[in-house]
Amino acid sequence: TRTRTNATSTSSSSSTISERKGQPIKPGQSYPAKEHCSNCGLCDTSLISYVKDACAFLGPGMSRIEKLEEKVHGKRRNTETDELRLGVLLNSDTKDNTNNSSQSIFYAKKKQPMEKAQWTGIVTSVALEMLRTKTVDCVVAVGSGEADARNPEPKLCFTEEDILACRGVKPSLSPNLKVFAEIETNPEIKNVLYIGVGCSVVALREVEQYLGLDNLYVLGTNCADNGRTDGFYKFVNNATDKPDEVLHYEFMPDYKVHLKMRDGSYEKIPYFSLPAKELSSGVIAESCKSCFDYVNGLADLVVGYMGVDYDESIPMNLHPQYVTVRNERGQKMVDLIKNDLQITPSTTRGDRKPFVLQTVISDDEAYLGRGPEKGAPRFVGNLIAWVLNKVGPKGKEFGMYSLDYHTIRNYLYVNRIYGKERAKEHIPSYAMKIVEEYEGKNGDISKRLEL
Ligand code: FAD
Repeated sequence: TRTRTNATSTSSSSSTISERKGQPIKPGQSYPAKEHCSNCGLCDTSLISYVKDACAFLGPGMSRIEKLEEKVHGKRRNTETDELRLGVLLNSDTKDNTNNSSQSIFYAKKKQPMEKAQWTGIVTSVALEMLRTKTVDCVVAVGSGEADARNPEPKLCFTEEDILACRGVKPSLSPNLKVFAEIETNPEIKNVLYIGVGCSVVALREVEQYLGLDNLYVLGTNCADNGRTDGFYKFVNNATDKPDEVLHYEFMPDYKVHLKMRDGSYEKIPYFSLPAKELSSGVIAESCKSCFDYVNGLADLVVGYMGVDYDESIPMNLHPQYVTVRNERGQKMVDLIKNDLQITPSTTRGDRKPFVLQTVISDDEAYLGRGPEKGAPRFVGNLIAWVLNKVGPKGKEFGMYSLDYHTIRNYLYVNRIYGKERAKEHIPSYAMKIVEEYEGKNGDISKRLEL
Protein backbone atom coordinates (compact mmCIF):
# COMPACT_ATOMS: atom_id res chain seq x y z
CA THR A 1 0.00 0.00 0.00
CA ARG A 2 1.27 3.47 -0.87
CA THR A 3 1.62 6.02 1.88
CA ARG A 4 0.58 9.57 1.26
CA THR A 5 3.23 12.17 0.63
CA ASN A 6 3.31 15.89 1.39
CA ALA A 7 -0.12 15.71 2.96
CA THR A 8 -1.24 19.11 4.13
CA SER A 9 -5.01 18.65 4.14
CA THR A 10 -7.04 19.17 7.27
CA SER A 11 -9.12 16.14 6.28
CA SER A 12 -9.58 13.65 9.09
CA SER A 13 -9.12 10.77 6.63
CA SER A 14 -6.25 8.35 7.12
CA SER A 15 -3.01 8.39 5.20
CA THR A 16 -3.03 5.03 3.43
CA ILE A 17 -5.59 3.49 1.10
CA SER A 18 -6.29 0.62 3.42
CA GLU A 19 -6.80 2.99 6.33
CA ARG A 20 -9.20 5.28 4.51
CA LYS A 21 -12.67 5.08 5.97
CA GLY A 22 -14.64 6.18 2.91
CA GLN A 23 -16.47 3.46 1.00
CA PRO A 24 -16.96 3.83 -2.75
CA ILE A 25 -20.53 4.65 -3.75
CA LYS A 26 -22.57 1.52 -4.47
CA PRO A 27 -24.85 1.24 -7.52
CA GLY A 28 -28.13 3.02 -6.81
CA GLN A 29 -26.70 5.14 -3.97
CA SER A 30 -26.66 8.90 -4.51
CA TYR A 31 -23.39 10.79 -4.89
CA PRO A 32 -22.40 13.52 -2.40
CA ALA A 33 -22.94 16.37 -4.91
CA LYS A 34 -26.31 14.81 -5.85
CA GLU A 35 -27.75 16.22 -9.10
CA HIS A 36 -24.70 18.46 -9.47
CA CYS A 37 -22.29 15.53 -9.48
CA SER A 38 -20.17 15.52 -12.65
CA ASN A 39 -19.56 11.78 -12.38
CA CYS A 40 -15.77 12.35 -12.21
CA GLY A 41 -15.23 8.96 -10.56
CA LEU A 42 -13.60 10.16 -7.30
CA CYS A 43 -16.45 8.72 -5.24
CA ASP A 44 -16.17 5.35 -6.98
CA THR A 45 -12.90 4.83 -5.07
CA SER A 46 -11.74 5.15 -1.48
CA LEU A 47 -10.67 8.69 -2.44
CA ILE A 48 -14.28 9.51 -1.55
CA SER A 49 -12.74 10.08 1.91
CA TYR A 50 -11.54 13.44 0.57
CA VAL A 51 -14.67 14.40 -1.34
CA LYS A 52 -15.50 17.42 0.83
CA ASP A 53 -11.99 18.78 0.26
CA ALA A 54 -11.87 17.93 -3.43
CA CYS A 55 -15.24 18.00 -5.22
CA ALA A 56 -15.70 20.82 -7.74
CA PHE A 57 -19.39 20.99 -6.82
CA LEU A 58 -19.30 20.90 -3.00
CA GLY A 59 -18.26 23.65 -0.56
CA PRO A 60 -15.91 26.10 -2.28
CA GLY A 61 -16.51 24.16 -5.50
CA MET A 62 -15.01 25.77 -8.58
CA SER A 63 -13.27 28.51 -6.61
CA ARG A 64 -10.79 25.81 -5.52
CA ILE A 65 -9.11 26.48 -8.86
CA GLU A 66 -7.74 29.83 -7.70
CA LYS A 67 -6.01 28.33 -4.67
CA LEU A 68 -4.70 25.36 -6.63
CA GLU A 69 -3.33 27.35 -9.57
CA GLU A 70 -0.41 28.59 -7.54
CA LYS A 71 0.36 25.11 -6.20
CA VAL A 72 0.19 23.49 -9.65
CA HIS A 73 1.73 26.16 -11.89
CA GLY A 74 3.79 28.15 -9.37
CA LYS A 75 1.76 31.31 -10.05
CA ARG A 76 -1.79 32.59 -10.13
CA ARG A 77 -3.48 33.86 -13.28
CA ASN A 78 -2.84 37.54 -13.95
CA THR A 79 -6.35 38.98 -14.08
CA GLU A 80 -5.14 42.11 -15.89
CA THR A 81 -4.32 40.13 -19.02
CA ASP A 82 -5.99 37.44 -21.14
CA GLU A 83 -5.05 35.04 -18.33
CA LEU A 84 -8.24 36.28 -16.64
CA ARG A 85 -10.15 34.15 -19.14
CA LEU A 86 -7.61 31.68 -20.50
CA GLY A 87 -5.91 30.68 -17.24
CA VAL A 88 -2.21 30.54 -16.30
CA LEU A 89 0.13 30.54 -19.31
CA LEU A 90 3.77 29.43 -19.21
CA ASN A 91 5.01 32.54 -21.01
CA SER A 92 2.81 35.35 -19.87
CA ASP A 93 5.36 38.07 -19.25
CA THR A 94 3.67 40.52 -21.62
CA LYS A 95 0.68 42.55 -20.48
CA ASP A 96 -1.43 41.64 -23.48
CA ASN A 97 -1.33 38.13 -24.88
CA THR A 98 -3.50 38.85 -27.89
CA ASN A 99 -0.60 39.73 -30.18
CA ASN A 100 1.07 36.33 -30.20
CA SER A 101 4.04 37.59 -28.20
CA SER A 102 3.40 34.52 -26.13
CA GLN A 103 3.74 31.10 -27.69
CA SER A 104 1.90 29.50 -24.80
CA ILE A 105 -1.22 29.57 -26.94
CA PHE A 106 -0.92 28.45 -30.54
CA TYR A 107 -2.62 26.50 -33.29
CA ALA A 108 -1.25 23.10 -34.26
CA LYS A 109 -2.16 20.13 -36.37
CA LYS A 110 -0.50 16.81 -36.91
CA LYS A 111 1.44 16.90 -40.20
CA GLN A 112 -0.01 13.44 -40.72
CA PRO A 113 -3.44 13.52 -39.11
CA MET A 114 -4.22 10.43 -37.10
CA GLU A 115 -7.05 8.23 -38.34
CA LYS A 116 -10.07 7.90 -36.05
CA ALA A 117 -8.90 10.76 -33.83
CA GLN A 118 -11.36 13.51 -32.88
CA TRP A 119 -9.39 16.28 -34.61
CA THR A 120 -5.87 15.55 -35.85
CA GLY A 121 -4.94 13.42 -32.86
CA ILE A 122 -2.60 15.66 -30.82
CA VAL A 123 -3.91 14.21 -27.55
CA THR A 124 -3.37 10.60 -28.60
CA SER A 125 0.07 11.43 -30.06
CA VAL A 126 1.30 13.03 -26.82
CA ALA A 127 0.03 10.03 -24.86
CA LEU A 128 1.73 7.55 -27.21
CA GLU A 129 5.04 9.40 -27.04
CA MET A 130 4.96 9.65 -23.25
CA LEU A 131 4.53 5.90 -23.06
CA ARG A 132 7.15 5.15 -25.77
CA THR A 133 9.76 7.33 -24.06
CA LYS A 134 8.85 5.76 -20.69
CA THR A 135 8.11 9.21 -19.32
CA VAL A 136 5.07 7.53 -17.78
CA ASP A 137 4.20 3.97 -16.80
CA CYS A 138 0.58 4.27 -17.91
CA VAL A 139 -2.08 6.63 -19.22
CA VAL A 140 -5.60 7.29 -17.96
CA ALA A 141 -7.82 7.75 -21.03
CA VAL A 142 -11.40 7.16 -22.13
CA GLY A 143 -12.36 4.16 -24.22
CA SER A 144 -15.73 2.87 -25.34
CA GLY A 145 -18.47 1.26 -23.29
CA GLU A 146 -19.53 -2.29 -24.13
CA ALA A 147 -23.22 -1.66 -24.74
CA ASP A 148 -22.68 1.36 -27.00
CA ALA A 149 -19.23 2.36 -28.25
CA ARG A 150 -20.30 6.01 -28.04
CA ASN A 151 -20.52 5.79 -24.26
CA PRO A 152 -17.37 6.54 -22.24
CA GLU A 153 -15.48 3.92 -20.27
CA PRO A 154 -12.29 5.08 -18.52
CA LYS A 155 -9.25 2.88 -19.16
CA LEU A 156 -5.82 2.46 -17.66
CA CYS A 157 -3.57 2.15 -20.72
CA PHE A 158 -0.26 0.28 -20.54
CA THR A 159 0.28 -0.28 -24.27
CA GLU A 160 0.12 1.72 -27.49
CA GLU A 161 -2.88 -0.38 -28.57
CA ASP A 162 -4.70 0.58 -25.35
CA ILE A 163 -4.12 4.28 -26.09
CA LEU A 164 -5.13 4.01 -29.73
CA ALA A 165 -8.37 2.33 -28.64
CA CYS A 166 -9.26 5.54 -26.79
CA ARG A 167 -9.13 7.88 -29.82
CA GLY A 168 -12.10 10.18 -30.30
CA VAL A 169 -14.51 11.86 -27.90
CA LYS A 170 -17.31 9.85 -26.33
CA PRO A 171 -19.70 12.69 -25.72
CA SER A 172 -20.85 12.18 -22.13
CA LEU A 173 -19.58 12.47 -18.57
CA SER A 174 -16.87 9.92 -17.88
CA PRO A 175 -15.88 8.71 -14.38
CA ASN A 176 -12.14 8.87 -15.15
CA LEU A 177 -10.91 9.09 -11.57
CA LYS A 178 -12.28 5.66 -10.71
CA VAL A 179 -9.20 4.26 -12.45
CA PHE A 180 -7.09 5.51 -9.52
CA ALA A 181 -8.46 2.61 -7.46
CA GLU A 182 -6.30 0.39 -9.70
CA ILE A 183 -3.35 2.80 -9.83
CA GLU A 184 -3.15 3.11 -6.08
CA THR A 185 -2.96 -0.64 -5.52
CA ASN A 186 -0.21 -1.20 -8.08
CA PRO A 187 3.16 -0.22 -6.55
CA GLU A 188 4.83 -0.47 -9.98
CA ILE A 189 2.96 2.63 -11.15
CA LYS A 190 4.89 5.75 -10.22
CA ASN A 191 4.45 8.01 -13.23
CA VAL A 192 1.04 8.69 -14.72
CA LEU A 193 -0.43 10.72 -17.58
CA TYR A 194 -4.03 11.70 -16.91
CA ILE A 195 -6.26 12.82 -19.81
CA GLY A 196 -9.46 14.52 -18.72
CA VAL A 197 -11.85 17.45 -18.53
CA GLY A 198 -11.66 20.32 -16.02
CA CYS A 199 -14.06 19.18 -13.27
CA SER A 200 -12.21 15.90 -12.81
CA VAL A 201 -8.86 17.69 -12.91
CA VAL A 202 -9.95 19.97 -10.02
CA ALA A 203 -10.68 16.91 -7.86
CA LEU A 204 -7.50 15.17 -9.02
CA ARG A 205 -5.32 18.15 -8.11
CA GLU A 206 -6.86 18.22 -4.62
CA VAL A 207 -6.06 14.54 -3.99
CA GLU A 208 -2.76 14.42 -5.90
CA GLN A 209 -0.84 14.73 -2.65
CA TYR A 210 -2.29 11.43 -1.37
CA LEU A 211 -1.56 9.32 -4.44
CA GLY A 212 2.12 8.64 -3.73
CA LEU A 213 3.13 9.14 -7.37
CA ASP A 214 6.53 10.40 -8.46
CA ASN A 215 5.10 12.32 -11.41
CA LEU A 216 1.59 13.17 -12.50
CA TYR A 217 1.16 14.79 -15.91
CA VAL A 218 -2.22 16.23 -16.83
CA LEU A 219 -3.26 16.58 -20.46
CA GLY A 220 -6.58 18.41 -20.39
CA THR A 221 -9.15 19.10 -23.05
CA ASN A 222 -11.26 22.22 -23.15
CA CYS A 223 -14.79 21.25 -22.26
CA ALA A 224 -18.21 22.90 -22.17
CA ASP A 225 -21.76 21.54 -22.09
CA ASN A 226 -21.16 17.86 -21.65
CA GLY A 227 -24.05 15.68 -20.49
CA ARG A 228 -25.09 12.31 -19.12
CA THR A 229 -25.59 9.48 -21.59
CA ASP A 230 -29.39 9.94 -21.59
CA GLY A 231 -28.74 13.60 -22.46
CA PHE A 232 -26.62 12.48 -25.43
CA TYR A 233 -29.49 10.33 -26.71
CA LYS A 234 -32.03 13.13 -26.18
CA PHE A 235 -29.81 15.54 -28.10
CA VAL A 236 -29.19 13.33 -31.12
CA ASN A 237 -32.84 12.20 -31.24
CA ASN A 238 -33.90 15.84 -31.49
CA ALA A 239 -31.11 17.07 -33.74
CA THR A 240 -31.14 14.60 -36.62
CA ASP A 241 -33.22 11.98 -38.43
CA LYS A 242 -30.33 9.52 -38.09
CA PRO A 243 -29.54 9.48 -34.34
CA ASP A 244 -28.09 5.95 -34.40
CA GLU A 245 -25.54 7.01 -37.01
CA VAL A 246 -24.04 9.82 -34.87
CA LEU A 247 -20.63 8.99 -33.43
CA HIS A 248 -20.10 12.30 -31.66
CA TYR A 249 -20.76 16.00 -32.11
CA GLU A 250 -19.04 19.34 -31.51
CA PHE A 251 -20.47 22.85 -31.19
CA MET A 252 -18.23 24.60 -33.70
CA PRO A 253 -17.02 28.18 -34.21
CA ASP A 254 -19.05 28.42 -37.44
CA TYR A 255 -22.26 28.58 -35.32
CA LYS A 256 -23.16 25.03 -36.32
CA VAL A 257 -23.14 21.74 -34.50
CA HIS A 258 -21.20 19.16 -36.50
CA LEU A 259 -22.50 15.62 -36.11
CA LYS A 260 -19.86 13.10 -37.12
CA MET A 261 -21.58 10.04 -38.59
CA ARG A 262 -20.31 6.47 -38.42
CA ASP A 263 -19.48 6.53 -42.16
CA GLY A 264 -17.13 9.51 -41.63
CA SER A 265 -19.49 12.12 -43.10
CA TYR A 266 -20.68 15.20 -41.19
CA GLU A 267 -24.16 16.66 -40.79
CA LYS A 268 -23.93 20.37 -39.94
CA ILE A 269 -26.91 21.97 -38.21
CA PRO A 270 -26.97 25.72 -37.48
CA TYR A 271 -27.41 26.40 -33.73
CA PHE A 272 -30.46 28.49 -34.56
CA SER A 273 -32.23 25.54 -36.18
CA LEU A 274 -32.02 23.33 -33.08
CA PRO A 275 -35.22 23.04 -31.00
CA ALA A 276 -33.80 25.23 -28.19
CA LYS A 277 -36.85 24.94 -25.92
CA GLU A 278 -36.91 21.14 -26.04
CA LEU A 279 -33.14 20.93 -25.57
CA SER A 280 -32.98 23.47 -22.72
CA SER A 281 -33.43 20.67 -20.18
CA GLY A 282 -32.19 17.11 -19.88
CA VAL A 283 -29.26 17.49 -22.27
CA ILE A 284 -26.52 19.55 -20.61
CA ALA A 285 -25.57 18.15 -17.20
CA GLU A 286 -26.31 20.31 -14.13
CA SER A 287 -22.59 20.17 -13.31
CA CYS A 288 -21.75 21.73 -16.69
CA LYS A 289 -24.21 24.53 -15.99
CA SER A 290 -22.29 25.15 -12.73
CA CYS A 291 -18.83 24.99 -14.33
CA PHE A 292 -16.38 27.89 -14.53
CA ASP A 293 -13.47 25.98 -16.01
CA TYR A 294 -14.00 25.75 -19.78
CA VAL A 295 -10.23 26.25 -20.18
CA ASN A 296 -9.15 23.40 -17.85
CA GLY A 297 -7.09 25.77 -15.72
CA LEU A 298 -5.29 23.11 -13.68
CA ALA A 299 -4.02 20.94 -16.55
CA ASP A 300 -0.37 21.19 -17.61
CA LEU A 301 -1.26 21.19 -21.31
CA VAL A 302 -4.70 21.76 -22.84
CA VAL A 303 -5.94 20.81 -26.32
CA GLY A 304 -9.26 21.94 -27.81
CA TYR A 305 -10.65 24.13 -30.55
CA MET A 306 -12.37 26.98 -28.73
CA GLY A 307 -10.04 29.76 -29.94
CA VAL A 308 -9.06 28.34 -33.29
CA ASP A 309 -9.48 30.43 -36.47
CA TYR A 310 -11.99 28.01 -37.90
CA ASP A 311 -12.03 27.42 -41.64
CA GLU A 312 -15.35 25.85 -42.66
CA SER A 313 -13.87 24.27 -45.76
CA ILE A 314 -11.58 21.99 -43.71
CA PRO A 315 -13.11 19.02 -41.85
CA MET A 316 -12.24 18.89 -38.17
CA ASN A 317 -10.04 15.81 -38.54
CA LEU A 318 -7.67 17.84 -40.79
CA HIS A 319 -8.09 21.20 -39.08
CA PRO A 320 -5.60 22.95 -36.74
CA GLN A 321 -6.36 22.58 -33.04
CA TYR A 322 -5.99 25.08 -30.19
CA VAL A 323 -3.18 24.40 -27.72
CA THR A 324 -2.48 26.00 -24.33
CA VAL A 325 0.78 25.39 -22.42
CA ARG A 326 0.45 26.22 -18.73
CA ASN A 327 3.79 25.16 -17.23
CA GLU A 328 7.12 23.39 -17.86
CA ARG A 329 5.52 19.94 -17.65
CA GLY A 330 3.09 20.98 -20.39
CA GLN A 331 6.00 22.27 -22.50
CA LYS A 332 7.85 18.97 -22.05
CA MET A 333 4.75 17.10 -23.23
CA VAL A 334 4.27 19.16 -26.37
CA ASP A 335 8.01 19.08 -27.14
CA LEU A 336 7.80 15.29 -27.38
CA ILE A 337 5.75 15.58 -30.59
CA LYS A 338 6.71 19.02 -31.88
CA ASN A 339 8.50 17.63 -34.96
CA ASP A 340 5.22 16.00 -36.00
CA LEU A 341 3.28 19.24 -35.68
CA GLN A 342 2.63 22.12 -38.01
CA ILE A 343 2.43 25.06 -35.62
CA THR A 344 1.01 28.51 -36.42
CA PRO A 345 0.50 31.53 -34.17
CA SER A 346 -2.96 32.15 -32.74
CA THR A 347 -4.98 35.01 -34.23
CA THR A 348 -7.85 37.15 -33.05
CA ARG A 349 -10.28 39.60 -34.64
CA GLY A 350 -13.69 41.20 -34.12
CA ASP A 351 -15.48 42.28 -30.96
CA ARG A 352 -17.27 39.60 -28.98
CA LYS A 353 -19.06 41.87 -26.50
CA PRO A 354 -22.39 42.62 -28.28
CA PHE A 355 -22.69 38.99 -29.40
CA VAL A 356 -22.18 37.68 -25.87
CA LEU A 357 -25.09 39.63 -24.39
CA GLN A 358 -27.35 38.73 -27.29
CA THR A 359 -26.59 35.02 -26.90
CA VAL A 360 -27.09 35.16 -23.12
CA ILE A 361 -30.49 36.79 -23.50
CA SER A 362 -31.89 34.44 -26.16
CA ASP A 363 -30.54 31.40 -24.32
CA ASP A 364 -31.93 32.59 -20.99
CA GLU A 365 -35.34 33.19 -22.53
CA ALA A 366 -35.33 29.55 -23.71
CA TYR A 367 -34.27 28.44 -20.20
CA LEU A 368 -37.21 30.38 -18.74
CA GLY A 369 -39.52 28.62 -21.20
CA ARG A 370 -40.10 31.73 -23.30
CA GLY A 371 -38.11 30.82 -26.39
CA PRO A 372 -39.61 29.90 -29.78
CA GLU A 373 -41.32 26.49 -29.90
CA LYS A 374 -39.20 25.36 -32.84
CA GLY A 375 -35.79 26.13 -34.27
CA ALA A 376 -35.51 28.30 -37.37
CA PRO A 377 -35.84 26.51 -40.74
CA ARG A 378 -32.45 25.23 -41.92
CA PHE A 379 -32.03 27.82 -44.68
CA VAL A 380 -32.73 30.67 -42.22
CA GLY A 381 -30.37 29.13 -39.65
CA ASN A 382 -27.68 28.74 -42.30
CA LEU A 383 -28.15 32.35 -43.36
CA ILE A 384 -27.79 33.64 -39.77
CA ALA A 385 -24.67 31.47 -39.31
CA TRP A 386 -23.24 32.84 -42.59
CA VAL A 387 -23.80 36.46 -41.49
CA LEU A 388 -22.32 35.83 -38.05
CA ASN A 389 -19.29 34.21 -39.64
CA LYS A 390 -18.74 37.40 -41.62
CA VAL A 391 -19.29 39.94 -38.84
CA GLY A 392 -18.77 37.97 -35.62
CA PRO A 393 -15.64 37.33 -33.53
CA LYS A 394 -12.95 35.01 -34.93
CA GLY A 395 -10.03 33.04 -33.51
CA LYS A 396 -9.22 33.75 -29.88
CA GLU A 397 -11.95 36.39 -29.79
CA PHE A 398 -14.47 33.65 -30.68
CA GLY A 399 -13.04 31.46 -27.91
CA MET A 400 -13.54 34.31 -25.45
CA TYR A 401 -17.07 34.96 -26.81
CA SER A 402 -17.94 31.35 -26.03
CA LEU A 403 -16.24 31.51 -22.65
CA ASP A 404 -17.96 34.78 -21.62
CA TYR A 405 -21.36 33.43 -22.68
CA HIS A 406 -20.89 30.21 -20.69
CA THR A 407 -19.60 32.15 -17.67
CA ILE A 408 -22.64 34.45 -17.57
CA ARG A 409 -25.15 31.67 -18.32
CA ASN A 410 -23.65 29.60 -15.50
CA TYR A 411 -23.55 32.60 -13.14
CA LEU A 412 -27.32 32.97 -13.64
CA TYR A 413 -27.91 29.24 -13.21
CA VAL A 414 -25.85 28.91 -10.03
CA ASN A 415 -27.46 31.97 -8.44
CA ARG A 416 -30.93 30.65 -9.24
CA ILE A 417 -30.33 27.05 -8.19
CA TYR A 418 -27.69 27.20 -5.44
CA GLY A 419 -28.88 30.52 -3.97
CA LYS A 420 -26.79 33.68 -3.63
CA GLU A 421 -24.66 32.63 -0.65
CA ARG A 422 -23.57 29.28 -2.10
CA ALA A 423 -23.06 30.87 -5.48
CA LYS A 424 -20.67 33.40 -3.93
CA GLU A 425 -18.62 30.60 -2.41
CA HIS A 426 -18.65 28.47 -5.56
CA ILE A 427 -17.88 30.98 -8.33
CA PRO A 428 -14.18 31.90 -8.77
CA SER A 429 -13.36 35.61 -8.60
CA TYR A 430 -12.00 35.55 -12.18
CA ALA A 431 -15.47 34.51 -13.37
CA MET A 432 -17.13 37.24 -11.29
CA LYS A 433 -14.83 39.78 -12.91
CA ILE A 434 -16.08 38.67 -16.34
CA VAL A 435 -19.73 38.92 -15.23
CA GLU A 436 -19.09 42.44 -13.90
CA GLU A 437 -17.72 43.53 -17.28
CA TYR A 438 -21.16 42.84 -18.79
CA GLU A 439 -23.23 44.11 -15.87
CA GLY A 440 -22.93 47.70 -17.13
CA LYS A 441 -24.67 50.69 -15.59
CA ASN A 442 -28.09 49.12 -16.11
CA GLY A 443 -27.38 45.90 -14.25
CA ASP A 444 -28.01 43.91 -17.45
CA ILE A 445 -27.08 40.59 -15.87
CA SER A 446 -28.38 40.87 -12.30
CA LYS A 447 -31.74 42.14 -13.61
CA ARG A 448 -32.26 38.74 -15.21
CA LEU A 449 -32.12 37.13 -11.76
CA GLU A 450 -35.34 38.95 -10.95
CA LEU A 451 -37.23 37.48 -13.94
P1 FAD B 1 -7.84 12.42 -29.81
O1 FAD B 1 -6.41 12.18 -30.13
O2 FAD B 1 -8.88 11.75 -30.61
O3 FAD B 1 -8.03 12.02 -28.27
C1 FAD B 1 -9.27 12.21 -27.65
C2 FAD B 1 -9.07 11.98 -26.17
O4 FAD B 1 -10.30 12.33 -25.52
C3 FAD B 1 -8.79 10.54 -25.83
O5 FAD B 1 -7.50 10.45 -25.29
C4 FAD B 1 -9.82 10.17 -24.76
O6 FAD B 1 -9.18 9.67 -23.62
C5 FAD B 1 -10.46 11.49 -24.40
N1 FAD B 1 -11.89 11.37 -24.17
C6 FAD B 1 -12.81 10.77 -24.95
N2 FAD B 1 -14.03 10.88 -24.42
C7 FAD B 1 -13.88 11.56 -23.27
C8 FAD B 1 -14.79 11.98 -22.26
N3 FAD B 1 -16.10 11.75 -22.33
N4 FAD B 1 -14.29 12.65 -21.18
C9 FAD B 1 -12.96 12.91 -21.09
N5 FAD B 1 -12.06 12.54 -22.02
C10 FAD B 1 -12.52 11.87 -23.09
N6 FAD B 1 -12.87 21.60 -27.03
C11 FAD B 1 -13.32 22.87 -27.13
O7 FAD B 1 -12.59 23.73 -27.59
N7 FAD B 1 -14.58 23.21 -26.73
C12 FAD B 1 -15.43 22.30 -26.16
O8 FAD B 1 -16.55 22.63 -25.79
C13 FAD B 1 -14.97 20.95 -26.01
N8 FAD B 1 -15.75 20.02 -25.42
C14 FAD B 1 -15.24 18.78 -25.17
C15 FAD B 1 -16.00 17.86 -24.41
C16 FAD B 1 -15.45 16.61 -24.08
C17 FAD B 1 -16.26 15.65 -23.25
C18 FAD B 1 -14.16 16.28 -24.52
C19 FAD B 1 -13.54 14.95 -24.16
C20 FAD B 1 -13.42 17.17 -25.28
C21 FAD B 1 -13.95 18.42 -25.61
N9 FAD B 1 -13.20 19.36 -26.34
C22 FAD B 1 -13.66 20.64 -26.48
C23 FAD B 1 -11.89 19.02 -26.91
C24 FAD B 1 -11.96 18.49 -28.35
O9 FAD B 1 -13.17 17.87 -28.61
C25 FAD B 1 -10.89 17.42 -28.63
O10 FAD B 1 -10.95 16.50 -27.60
C26 FAD B 1 -9.52 17.94 -28.64
O11 FAD B 1 -9.36 18.92 -29.62
C27 FAD B 1 -8.52 16.80 -28.88
O12 FAD B 1 -8.61 16.32 -30.19
P2 FAD B 1 -7.58 15.18 -30.65
O13 FAD B 1 -7.81 14.86 -32.08
O14 FAD B 1 -6.23 15.58 -30.23
O15 FAD B 1 -8.14 13.98 -29.74
